[in-house]
Amino acid sequence: MKRTETKKVKVGNISIGASSDVVIQSMCNTKTVDVDATVNQINSLSQNGCDLVRVSVPDEDSALAISKIKEKINIPLVADIHFDYKLALLSIKHGADKIRINPGNITKGLDEIVKSCKDKNIPIRVGVNSGSLEKDILEKYGMPTSEALVESALNNIRKIEDLNYDNIVVSIKSSEVMLCVNAYKLLSTKTNYPLHIGITESGTIWSGNIKSSIGLSLILNEGIGDTIRVSLTGDPVEEVKTAKLILKTLGIRKGGIEIVSCPTCSRTNIDIIKIANEIEQAITPDIRKKFENTNYKIAVMGCAVNGPGEARDCDIGIAGGNKEALLFKKGEIISKISEDKIVETIINYIS
Ligand code: SF4
Repeated sequence: MKRTETKKVKVGNISIGASSDVVIQSMCNTKTVDVDATVNQINSLSQNGCDLVRVSVPDEDSALAISKIKEKINIPLVADIHFDYKLALLSIKHGADKIRINPGNITKGLDEIVKSCKDKNIPIRVGVNSGSLEKDILEKYGMPTSEALVESALNNIRKIEDLNYDNIVVSIKSSEVMLCVNAYKLLSTKTNYPLHIGITESGTIWSGNIKSSIGLSLILNEGIGDTIRVSLTGDPVEEVKTAKLILKTLGIRKGGIEIVSCPTCSRTNIDIIKIANEIEQAITPDIRKKFENTNYKIAVMGCAVNGPGEARDCDIGIAGGNKEALLFKKGEIISKISEDKIVETIINYIS
């Protein structure tokens, strides 16, 4: 897939845009002032493949906590600012690697934010959201539309450019999947700043995963998107896992473990649903890291109809029998194992 050429922007030790890998982001749902909880969550996100993390800065204490958090994490941190430009200045002073602002609700102090970002050479993400479009844009379009989101983004980009700064990343988000997709398509024809893409407020883990997968895939398949976030009402680690799988499925990122498991049917005589889920749960971040540069497939198949064929194409796999299974490794039948030993055998093998 050919990716749209965008400007390269540095955030801490990572690059966004141009030919850089698509960066996976997430956002903490801890209180930022709770440094220990936030650090634990960021480190867990990082272990699971998160490249860049955002924390919200609703007050001064949260901005002050950034320097303490940064001492204990190893991925760049973005400060999420709404309404009060002074919180942006304080966050920058305390080590934020990037600032996300929604210029629609920053009514004063943009010049000071830009000056401060310029001094530290850190990027600004212009984050436009359909829920907080400027009044004049809403009046012009009557409702949030793709064109309205893009016009708002371009206006706000211009405000920063007028202050002689172009270290910018842009996002335009909506919970309306197709509106969001069309907005990104339009925006990518109007700017070459790197784009952070996501379907915002997409819902619980179930609905959010579906909406995000559809929306992000449609956008990414157009070659658009330099960083992604899957937004879920749930554990942010799930956001990272989903983002990784979306990129892997589209062939944008290589490597990692994939479980191929059958839907089961009346031919199944072992509990494939339980086994597949237990294997998935038992794969630790350390095991995942071991395979991050290798495409590694585990087959969990219910019977001898498609089971052996699928299991043979995988690095390791089982094809179920009657309360037992054939174990395959790299296409060869290795042994027969009892149902209660399947999970343990596979996890021991890949550990
Ligand atoms: S692999 Fe076997 S058990 Fe699984 S769905 Fe196919 S036929 Fe049914």
